[in-house]
Amino acid sequence: MPRARETTLELDLVALEHNYNYIRTKIHTSTMFLAVVKAFGYGSDSVIIAKKLEKLGVDYLAVAYAHEGKVLREAGIKTPILVLHAQPCNYSMVIKYCLEPSLYSPRVLREFIKASKAQKQKSYPVHLKFNTGLNRLGFWENDIDSIAEELEGRDELKIKSIFSHLAASEDKSEEEFSKNQIRSFDKIAKEFTSKLRISPFMHILNTSGIFNYPEAQFQMVRSGIGLYGYGNEARYDDKLRPVATLKTIISQIHNIEPNESVGYNRAFSAEEYKKTATLPLGHADGIGRQYGNGKASVIVNGKEAPIIGNVCMDMIMIDITGIECKEGDEVVVFGKGHSAETFAAGANTISYELLSGISQRVKRIITGT
Ligand SMILES: *Cc1c(COP(=O)(O)O)cnc(C)c1O
Repeated sequence: MPRARETTLELDLVALEHNYNYIRTKIHTSTMFLAVVKAFGYGSDSVIIAKKLEKLGVDYLAVAYAHEGKVLREAGIKTPILVLHAQPCNYSMVIKYCLEPSLYSPRVLREFIKASKAQKQKSYPVHLKFNTGLNRLGFWENDIDSIAEELEGRDELKIKSIFSHLAASEDKSEEEFSKNQIRSFDKIAKEFTSKLRISPFMHILNTSGIFNYPEAQFQMVRSGIGLYGYGNEARYDDKLRPVATLKTIISQIHNIEPNESVGYNRAFSAEEYKKTATLPLGHADGIGRQYGNGKASVIVNGKEAPIIGNVCMDMIMIDITGIECKEGDEVVVFGKGHSAETFAAGANTISYELLSGISQRVKRIITGT
């Protein structure tokens, strides 16, 4: 890779392939693999990521909203796409682009039946989501009778799968809670199958679920963060490789005298002589103000340089006192060699938020094709 000359997000498709293959080793060969590519592929590039995964033989893709699925279809993606949170106003788009909606309440079930009737659909594939404790989206166990009534004698829909989502799969101290969710999902599935006399496939595990509860993989697993190189736990982070590396350069270097300040609201104040560098990225690129004032560091020629003062919309200042560097030198914000998880943790957040927040202004560069 030639060194960066502007702010870029490098996407390493060899790392993606490695992560996919690694996660695959954690499940049976017969278990289907759904790759979550919502939010621009966790802030990377959903089309590039989806195309690579399609080539690798992924069984399913998932996005959050209908528009995200439309983008994939328009790019030529043929793999089935589960839409986790499509809004009823977009159901005609869902059908037009052969997307498979998650239906999670009596209201949206009725709405989707209406939409598929209007478009004269037969056996349109849908997935029913059940709530087992996350209390976010999902039918409740006692909705099963009304689902059965609603679907009685209809042929517009085909329920391909039923699924649920774990609330704390990465948290060992919540093992009992997670196991209870898995048990209640199992119970719901049995009741559902016997009432509706159909056997859709089942799935409940996300990335940390795959690592911690492989016995509950059922017929499919859904992985997002692991594919992008983070495992919510050091021992899995070690086995995975970051796909995205955010790089920038030093625009200008200043020598700051004691008692001078740096940036808006004079938030950084120099107690001694300091050397600072100004970088061409800011909160409009997805590095929010929470990373300012020493909460996160970037890497300059192999050395850690803390962000000082307030993060601006298009710029960040860092302390490079004692670091050998010059204007134009490359800076690694996070990624290879500088974990997004660590960067995020400094500001009390998680890799998911940092990655998915990298804005569309940042140029994407693909490596390892
Ligand atoms: C985002 C999401 C996932 C992926 O979770 P990871 O922790 O990133 O693997 C899986 N299932 C659902 C329902 C999701 O919303």
